[in-house]
Amino acid sequence: MVKVILKRKIAPRVLLGHPWIFANEVDRIEGTLSGGDVVAVYTHDQKFVGQGYANPRSQILVRLLTREERVVIDEQYFVDRIKACWTYRQQIGYTENCRLVFGEADGLPQLIIDKFNDYFVLQTLALGIDRWKPALVNALQQLFQPKGIYERNDVPVRELEGLVQQKGFLSDPFDTRIIIQENGLRFHVDLAQGQKTGYFLDQQDNRRAIRSIVKGADVLGAFTYTGTFEIHAAQYGARSVLGLDISAQAVAQANENARLNNLQDRCRFEVANAFDVLKQWTKEKKQYDVVMLDPPAFTKSRATLQKAITGYKEINLRGMKLVRPGGFLVSSSCTNLVGPDLFLEIIGMAAKDARRTIRQVCFQSQSPDHPIIPSMENTHYLKFLIVQVQ
Ligand code: SAH
Repeated sequence: MVKVILKRKIAPRVLLGHPWIFANEVDRIEGTLSGGDVVAVYTHDQKFVGQGYANPRSQILVRLLTREERVVIDEQYFVDRIKACWTYRQQIGYTENCRLVFGEADGLPQLIIDKFNDYFVLQTLALGIDRWKPALVNALQQLFQPKGIYERNDVPVRELEGLVQQKGFLSDPFDTRIIIQENGLRFHVDLAQGQKTGYFLDQQDNRRAIRSIVKGADVLGAFTYTGTFEIHAAQYGARSVLGLDISAQAVAQANENARLNNLQDRCRFEVANAFDVLKQWTKEKKQYDVVMLDPPAFTKSRATLQKAITGYKEINLRGMKLVRPGGFLVSSSCTNLVGPDLFLEIIGMAAKDARRTIRQVCFQSQSPDHPIIPSMENTHYLKFLIVQVQ
C-alpha cells in the first residue's frame, strides 16, 4: 500500500481525530499514487495515523476512513460500516426515513446516503469514495433489499475531485416519485427531480417543534420547498397557512402535499420571491402570528460571508416586522460558515433594527441522524431558532 508521510509540524487537528489531510501537510509519498487509492498515513517518525483514500488533484490529499492499522478496506468493510450506521439510527429512534450515512460524521468521508423507507439516495462526492459505488450498492442490497437506489451526484463539488456530475438509477429503474410518512403526515418526494436528495431530512425533528406555537395561528412560511413545515402547522391546528417559494415546481408539489393530507382548505402555497414579498407586505402592514423562514445556504465561501450575514439580517428583519406582538418567528440557517453564535448575533441585530424585543423559545440543530462531531465544525451546520417577538 502507498505510504503518505506527514511533515514534522502538522496541525493537531489530524491527531485529534479530524479525517482530512491537506496536501501541504504531507512531507512525502512512498510508492506510486493513483487517484482514489487507499493509502496508509504515518507521522514523520513513522507512527501509524490511519488509512484513507487519496486524490492528488484535491487540496485535501487524504480523507481518512479508519484509524485501525489492521483492518482491510474492502467490500465487506463498507457492509460493516453501513450496518453500524443503521444500528445507530435505530438506537436513536429512526425507523423509516433518515440520513443513513452522514459522511465524515460516520467515518465515511464524502458519502451521503438518505433512506426513504425502502428507497435509497446516494451521493459520492469525492473520487476515493466514488470508486466504491458498486460496493456501496451491493452493501445496501444485502442489508436492506431496497425497492430502489438512486444516485444524486448532480453536485458541483464533484468537479473539484475531477468527477463529472451525474444522476440515475443504481438499481433496476423504478418510479422515483414516492410518498414518505413523517410525524404522521404524508409527503410526495421526487427522488430524481427534487432538490438535493429530494427531501430535507435534517429538519424532520424540528418540524415537530412548532406544534404548540401554531394553534389557532395565521402562519406565513417562506422558502417552503415542498411545504413540510407549513403542512405540519396546519396539522397542528393553525387557522390559516400560506407558504411561499420561488420555485414553481416546489410550490406545485407543496400544494399536492396539502391535498394528500386533506389540509388544502387551510394551507396553500404560492410562487414568490420571499425577499420582495416580505418587504412589500411589511409596507402594507400585514401581520401574522407565526412567520417561518428556511432559506437555502447563502454562501459556501468566506469571501462572500459578509453578504450572507447581510442576507440573513435582512430576511429576518423583514420576517420579524410581519409578526404580531406576542407572535413567533421560526428561523433556520443551513450556512456552514455562519455558526450558532453568529446566527444568534444576526438575529439580535435584526431585532434591534426592527425595534422588537425577542425571547428565545428554542434553539437547536439538525436532527441527530446527521450527527455532530464537535471537532469537525462542518458537521454542525443547521441552526433552528424559535423566538417570541414582542
Ligand atoms: N423548509 C424546507 C426546505 C427549504 S430549502 C423543508 O423543510 O423542506 C430552501 C427553499 O428556498 C428552496 O425550495 C428554494 O427554491 C427556495 N428559495 C430560494 N430563494 C428563494 C427566494 N428568494 N424566495 C423564495 N424562495 C426561495
